[in-house]
Formats: sequence, C-alpha cells, structure tokens
Amino acid sequence: MNWTRTLTEEKTLTETITKRLSVDLSGQAALVTGAGRGLGRCIARTLAAAGAKVACIDINLETLQETIDCIRAAGGTAEPIACNVTDSQRVGEVVDEVTKLWGGLQILVNNAGITRDNMILRMKDEQWDAVLNINLRGTFLFTRAAAKPMIKAHRGRIINIASVSGLMGNPGQANYSASKPGAIGLTRTVARELARRQVTVNAVAPGFIATDMTAALGEEMLAQVKKEIPLGRLGEPQDVADAVLFLASDAASFITGHVLTIDGGLTV
Ligand code: NAP
Repeated sequence: MNWTRTLTEEKTLTETITKRLSVDLSGQAALVTGAGRGLGRCIARTLAAAGAKVACIDINLETLQETIDCIRAAGGTAEPIACNVTDSQRVGEVVDEVTKLWGGLQILVNNAGITRDNMILRMKDEQWDAVLNINLRGTFLFTRAAAKPMIKAHRGRIINIASVSGLMGNPGQANYSASKPGAIGLTRTVARELARRQVTVNAVAPGFIATDMTAALGEEMLAQVKKEIPLGRLGEPQDVADAVLFLASDAASFITGHVLTIDGGLTV
C-alpha cells in the first residue's frame, strides 16, 4: 500500500488548508520530531507553510532530507537535524542549537513514535522497552529541554501526538497503548506546571491515519477498521496537521491540558 502524494498534490493541499485556517506563524521557530515521513512530515510542512521556521528531527537522515526538500520547494524554511529522541544529551544539544539558530523556540511537536506489536504473552522485553523509550521517554526529554527557553520567553506551545489506541486499547498493542496514556498524563501535568508562564501543552489523539504505520496492518484489517469509523474513511495526515496547526496558533491560547481526538468518530 502506498499513500504517498506527489509533491505538487501535497503543496496544493497544505496551501488550501493554511489559507482556510488563516494561521500566521511568521517569526516563530518550531521543532517537530519524527519529521522524516508520515504525520511528522505533514505537520512540519504545514507549520512551515504557515510561516514557521521548522527544525525537522529524525533518526533517519535520508527521509528527513526529502521533508526538507519538500518544505524548501514550497518556499518554507527548514533545517534537518539528526537525533534519536531517546538520547538525553543529544536532545539537550538539539534544543540549544535550534534556540541559538533562530533566537528562541516557540513550538514543539513530539511526534516520533513506533509500534512493535505482539499479544501480551508473546511480548518481548525489547518490544516493550523500545516503544516506551521512543514514544514516552522521547516526549519527556524534548518537553523538558524545550520548556527552558519557553519558560524564559513566557510563551510556548507543546503538542504531543498520542493515539486513540491509548484511550480505548487495541489488542496486540499493550506497549503502544501504555505509552500513549503516559504521554497524556505528561501533557496534563506539564500543562499545569507551565500554565503560569503562558506555555500551553496539549495532545492530539489520532485514530487510524493513512501512513506507513497503518499500512503495516494490511488491507483486510484496514477494510474492517473503515467499517467501524462513523465518518467512513481513514484519516489523512493533513487532518492531524490541521489540528496541530490550530493548537500552535494564537487562536488556541486559552486551551491547555486538552486531548483532541481526530478519529472520524471512532471513539464517540
Ligand atoms: P511513521 O510513518 O512510522 O513515522 C514515524 C517517524 O518517526 C519516522 O520518520 C521514524 O524514522 C521516526 N522515528 C522513529 N524512531 C525515532 C527515534 N528514536 N528518534 C527520532 N525519530 C524516530 O509513523 P506515523 O504514522 O507518522 O506516526 C507518527 C506519530 O503519530 C507516532 O507517535 C504515532 O504513534 C502517532 N499515531 C499515528 C497514527 C496513525 O494512524 N498513523 C495513529 C495514532 C497515533 P524511521 O523512518 O527511521 O522509522
């Protein structure tokens, strides 16, 4: 299954959406983890189309370069930065680099995430650890590092990518479904800790979105899933990026500690 759009299709879609939402992020610096493909790429592209300078973080430099090319071809500003989100020291360095480069950091999107599915009796320690480390520890490390410049500036937006799998459970995903509510608990707590400094912290919880991660489920399973989604389709990465764009904007300045589901009604 290949859901990749052409560069022209992606550019047109993002331009239409950013115009419709009228969000202007000019002069703001954003950092998006897992920006090499899927939701991260679309979020980075959308923030850049709204005028933000975007630091694109990923462990995979090859796919990351495609994201950068895509943003620059559309006239946006983006920098590729290689980083494993579980590496505490490197995460600190990256946030310092970005803050120095653009004189601050206003928006953080913790998007990098993986699945290592298995039923509970067969789940290996390594599968549990890998998912919890990347999905939860990575979110913690970047949140802690980015909070410093945001607190200092009395301004910031942190948006964590959770999942409906963490809200309703999903057989075969005990590790993943445990990591995502962890990120939600972190979101709500840090939202309370940073509110006085005008830093908002929110999460979005996507349902089934058409990316490589979902393609791995296979056509048969996806056909079944579609039947269960009241809106009758899988989500597009742009559906998630639009919500992130809103939460990053001034229009969302009184929203913090919130979890916004983007699932076509799956969890209603
Ligand atoms: P994806 O297509 O698999 O992309 C994930 C990206 O994160 C990849 O570029 C990956 O690099 C990168 N990454 C993985 N481990 C990393 C690490 N240690 N450090 C830095 N980057 C790393 O996934 P996606 O579907 O876009 O999902 C993005 C986020 O949305 C995840 O947090 C996921 O849990 C969440 N989500 C997705 C869905 C969905 O339906 N797709 C639904 C709910 C929530 P590689 O190319 O090397 O793998």
